[in-house]
Amino acid sequence: MSNWYKTVEQHIDRQRPEFTEKEQTAHKLDLFLRAAIRIDEFASECEKCHAIQAEMLKTAKTINLVRTEKAAQKESKRIRNLALGHLRKKHGLSHPMENRLLWGCFGMAFGASIGLTYNQYIPGIIVGGVVGTVGGILRDRQMAKQGRTI
Ligand SMILES: [Zn+2]
Repeated sequence: MSNWYKTVEQHIDRQRPEFTEKEQTAHKLDLFLRAAIRIDEFASECEKCHAIQAEMLKTAKTINLVRTEKAAQKESKRIRNLALGHLRKKHGLSHPMENRLLWGCFGMAFGASIGLTYNQYIPGIIVGGVVGTVGGILRDRQMAKQGRTI
Protein backbone atom coordinates (compact mmCIF):
# COMPACT_ATOMS: atom_id res chain seq x y z
CA MET A 1 0.00 0.00 0.00
CA SER A 2 1.45 3.35 -1.05
CA ASN A 3 1.84 6.56 0.88
CA TRP A 4 -0.79 8.03 -1.39
CA TYR A 5 -3.42 5.61 -0.11
CA LYS A 6 -2.36 6.06 3.49
CA THR A 7 -2.73 9.82 3.12
CA VAL A 8 -6.20 9.47 1.59
CA GLU A 9 -7.25 7.12 4.39
CA GLN A 10 -5.89 9.49 7.03
CA HIS A 11 -7.82 12.42 5.58
CA ILE A 12 -11.05 10.43 5.57
CA ASP A 13 -10.53 8.95 9.03
CA ARG A 14 -9.73 12.34 10.49
CA GLN A 15 -13.03 13.74 9.24
CA ARG A 16 -15.12 10.63 9.78
CA PRO A 17 -16.15 11.57 13.36
CA GLU A 18 -18.01 14.57 11.93
CA PHE A 19 -20.30 12.20 10.04
CA THR A 20 -23.18 10.34 11.63
CA GLU A 21 -23.31 6.65 10.73
CA LYS A 22 -26.18 7.38 8.37
CA GLU A 23 -24.19 10.10 6.63
CA GLN A 24 -21.21 7.80 6.25
CA THR A 25 -23.40 5.33 4.41
CA ALA A 26 -25.19 7.98 2.37
CA HIS A 27 -21.94 9.53 1.19
CA LYS A 28 -20.31 6.13 0.67
CA LEU A 29 -17.06 6.81 2.51
CA ASP A 30 -16.12 3.14 2.60
CA LEU A 31 -16.80 2.63 -1.08
CA PHE A 32 -14.60 5.65 -1.77
CA LEU A 33 -11.76 4.00 0.18
CA ARG A 34 -12.27 0.60 -1.47
CA ALA A 35 -12.08 2.26 -4.88
CA ALA A 36 -8.95 4.10 -3.73
CA ILE A 37 -7.26 0.80 -2.75
CA ARG A 38 -7.84 -0.55 -6.25
CA ILE A 39 -6.81 2.65 -8.02
CA ASP A 40 -3.64 2.53 -5.95
CA GLU A 41 -2.88 -1.00 -7.14
CA PHE A 42 -2.92 0.03 -10.79
CA ALA A 43 -1.55 3.56 -10.52
CA SER A 44 2.08 2.69 -11.19
CA GLU A 45 1.28 1.18 -14.58
CA CYS A 46 -1.90 3.00 -15.59
CA GLU A 47 -1.87 6.69 -16.47
CA LYS A 48 -5.59 7.12 -15.94
CA CYS A 49 -5.44 5.62 -12.44
CA HIS A 50 -2.53 7.91 -11.73
CA ALA A 51 -4.57 10.93 -12.83
CA ILE A 52 -7.56 9.77 -10.77
CA GLN A 53 -5.32 9.57 -7.69
CA ALA A 54 -4.76 13.32 -7.72
CA GLU A 55 -8.51 13.98 -7.88
CA MET A 56 -9.32 11.46 -5.16
CA LEU A 57 -6.76 12.98 -2.83
CA LYS A 58 -8.19 16.44 -3.42
CA THR A 59 -11.70 15.19 -2.62
CA ALA A 60 -10.54 13.27 0.45
CA LYS A 61 -8.92 16.34 1.97
CA THR A 62 -12.24 18.12 2.33
CA ILE A 63 -14.62 15.17 2.34
CA ASN A 64 -16.57 16.63 5.28
CA LEU A 65 -17.94 19.32 2.94
CA VAL A 66 -20.26 16.74 1.37
CA ARG A 67 -22.34 16.92 4.54
CA THR A 68 -23.32 20.52 3.93
CA GLU A 69 -22.49 21.51 0.36
CA LYS A 70 -24.33 20.30 -2.69
CA ALA A 71 -21.41 21.13 -4.98
CA ALA A 72 -18.99 19.07 -2.86
CA GLN A 73 -21.50 16.22 -2.85
CA LYS A 74 -21.70 16.30 -6.61
CA GLU A 75 -17.93 16.46 -6.98
CA SER A 76 -17.30 13.56 -4.61
CA LYS A 77 -19.89 11.46 -6.42
CA ARG A 78 -18.36 12.37 -9.77
CA ILE A 79 -14.85 11.32 -8.79
CA ARG A 80 -16.08 8.15 -7.07
CA ASN A 81 -18.01 7.14 -10.17
CA LEU A 82 -15.09 8.06 -12.39
CA ALA A 83 -12.85 5.73 -10.37
CA LEU A 84 -15.41 2.93 -10.24
CA GLY A 85 -16.26 3.22 -13.93
CA HIS A 86 -12.61 3.11 -14.91
CA LEU A 87 -11.91 0.11 -12.65
CA ARG A 88 -14.81 -1.72 -14.25
CA LYS A 89 -14.06 -0.93 -17.85
CA LYS A 90 -10.31 -0.91 -17.91
CA HIS A 91 -9.36 -3.32 -15.13
CA GLY A 92 -12.30 -5.76 -15.22
CA LEU A 93 -13.39 -5.29 -11.61
CA SER A 94 -16.96 -5.19 -10.37
CA HIS A 95 -18.97 -4.11 -7.36
CA PRO A 96 -19.72 -7.11 -5.06
CA MET A 97 -23.46 -7.13 -5.95
CA GLU A 98 -23.28 -5.64 -9.38
CA ASN A 99 -23.89 -8.66 -11.60
CA ARG A 100 -26.96 -10.01 -9.81
CA LEU A 101 -28.67 -6.61 -10.14
CA LEU A 102 -27.60 -6.07 -13.71
CA TRP A 103 -28.38 -9.58 -14.92
CA GLY A 104 -31.63 -9.64 -12.95
CA CYS A 105 -32.84 -6.53 -14.78
CA PHE A 106 -31.59 -7.81 -18.09
CA GLY A 107 -33.31 -11.15 -17.46
CA MET A 108 -36.60 -9.43 -16.70
CA ALA A 109 -36.42 -7.36 -19.88
CA PHE A 110 -35.45 -10.39 -21.91
CA GLY A 111 -38.17 -12.51 -20.27
CA ALA A 112 -40.74 -9.79 -20.97
CA SER A 113 -39.90 -9.66 -24.66
CA ILE A 114 -40.05 -13.46 -25.01
CA GLY A 115 -43.21 -13.52 -22.88
CA LEU A 116 -44.91 -10.97 -25.12
CA THR A 117 -44.47 -13.21 -28.13
CA TYR A 118 -46.30 -16.04 -26.36
CA ASN A 119 -48.79 -13.84 -24.54
CA GLN A 120 -47.16 -14.81 -21.22
CA TYR A 121 -45.84 -11.42 -20.25
CA ILE A 122 -45.83 -11.78 -16.44
CA PRO A 123 -44.41 -15.34 -16.28
CA GLY A 124 -41.77 -14.20 -18.77
CA ILE A 125 -40.69 -11.37 -16.46
CA ILE A 126 -40.60 -13.63 -13.42
CA VAL A 127 -38.67 -16.49 -15.03
CA GLY A 128 -36.29 -14.08 -16.76
CA GLY A 129 -35.68 -12.16 -13.54
CA VAL A 130 -34.99 -15.31 -11.50
CA VAL A 131 -32.69 -16.87 -14.09
CA GLY A 132 -30.82 -13.59 -14.55
CA THR A 133 -30.41 -13.03 -10.81
CA VAL A 134 -29.18 -16.57 -10.14
CA GLY A 135 -26.72 -16.29 -13.01
CA GLY A 136 -25.60 -12.93 -11.65
CA ILE A 137 -25.09 -14.33 -8.15
CA LEU A 138 -22.88 -17.08 -9.55
CA ARG A 139 -20.92 -14.49 -11.50
CA ASP A 140 -20.56 -12.28 -8.39
CA ARG A 141 -19.20 -15.26 -6.45
CA GLN A 142 -16.76 -16.10 -9.19
CA MET A 143 -15.54 -12.50 -9.31
CA ALA A 144 -15.11 -12.47 -5.53
CA LYS A 145 -13.17 -15.74 -5.66
CA GLN A 146 -10.84 -14.27 -8.27
CA GLY A 147 -10.34 -11.20 -6.09
CA ARG A 148 -11.90 -8.93 -8.71
CA THR A 149 -14.52 -7.18 -6.61
CA ILE A 150 -14.15 -3.59 -5.46
ZN1 LIG B 1 -6.33 2.36 -14.50
